Amino acid sequence: MSGYTHLFIPGPTNIPEKVRQAMNLPMEDMRSPEFPKFTKPLFEDLKKVFKTETGRVFIYPSSGTGAWEAAITNTLNPGDRVLMSRFGQFSHLWVDMAERMGLEVDVIDVEWGQGVPVEEYAKRLEADTDGTIKAVFCCHNETATGVTSDIAAVRKALDDAYHDALLFVDGVSAIGSIDFRMEEWGVDCAVSGSQKGFMLPAGLGFLAVSQKALDAHQSSTFRRCYFSFEDMIKTNDQGYFPYTPATQLLRGLRVALDMLLEEGLDVVFARHHRMAEAVRRAVAAWGLELCAAGKEWESDTVSAIMVPEGFDSAEVVKTAYYKYNVSLGVGLSKVAGKVFRIGHLGALNEVMVLGALGGAEMALRDCGIEIVPGSGVGAAVEYFRETSQPMKLAEAA
Ligand SMILES: *Cc1c(COP(=O)(O)O)cnc(C)c1O
Repeated sequence: MSGYTHLFIPGPTNIPEKVRQAMNLPMEDMRSPEFPKFTKPLFEDLKKVFKTETGRVFIYPSSGTGAWEAAITNTLNPGDRVLMSRFGQFSHLWVDMAERMGLEVDVIDVEWGQGVPVEEYAKRLEADTDGTIKAVFCCHNETATGVTSDIAAVRKALDDAYHDALLFVDGVSAIGSIDFRMEEWGVDCAVSGSQKGFMLPAGLGFLAVSQKALDAHQSSTFRRCYFSFEDMIKTNDQGYFPYTPATQLLRGLRVALDMLLEEGLDVVFARHHRMAEAVRRAVAAWGLELCAAGKEWESDTVSAIMVPEGFDSAEVVKTAYYKYNVSLGVGLSKVAGKVFRIGHLGALNEVMVLGALGGAEMALRDCGIEIVPGSGVGAAVEYFRETSQPMKLAEAA
């Protein structure tokens, strides 16, 4: 097909040209005396994105799922009781991992479309006066349903109950795109990955840990080797890795971090909000509904859009792909066939989002869903006109 391929799935996301080019370099000596000059600032700048000063960040050559596992096996013990909630494919998978790794999981099932049930968490934490719950898990942004949860409120629930449990957060589709404050929210293990807000290929799993998580590591009895903190700490402190690092991905990460920090995290978050809001206006103009069951749950990185009863969202996604070269996200597991998703995170701007909406409109109509042509695009156009700022002259020059 001629022209660009349009990628609007919620990860992997579009890679900026600058980042791609930064990864196109010869292999380098990862034990060279120069290498730490590159890696040490990389760790420091990654901490800025997680917003932690007293913690540290591990970079694993894995996807986000590996960082999930690293968090569990480095800080907990087999048989530990943990509190989790399940309201989408990703929160479901983390529960599944915790169970398979031998944790005793108290799972709260929540209707898909809502997020972390903070009040229920608060109740369970208050009732747990003996402190048997060792960790509380939250999926910050459930990518399957387009639902964002309130992590600060979970922190408050822990504090109000004077509960000492570790706080684990899956921020794979949140960190670097929507507000995340590791230090301020007292998050102990924050997980992310390279292929979403960080605008890179898949292949790096990030795990930021607090001092409290590092202390818990001292008495953690899980068997582990490849993911072990101590091997990482020993070598990372010298600017190296315990095994061959993915140097090209790290070079890409350098440029991606520069881009995020140059734009400014608050500006990045505001941009994500604008992209998301344009999509939400389009959805409303189409007369369709989000899977997110209320304003407070709406995600600024991904929208899961419900097709009307009697239609198959997989057909919409397939049509967009084959006919218009546009990739939209399919509905996963419980919402398969019911929703399609527009990922609006990472390297994205107004006109790209209009492309996604135009592609979705065509595919929806092709599938017999009678939306008014141009209605969604039109709503987004007007919203962007009202809210977008001209580039600074220096940038434009
Ligand atoms: C993508 C994603 C994951 C899984 O990450 P992988 O990099 O595919 O292992 C986990 N949690 C959330 C919320 C995600 O969006």
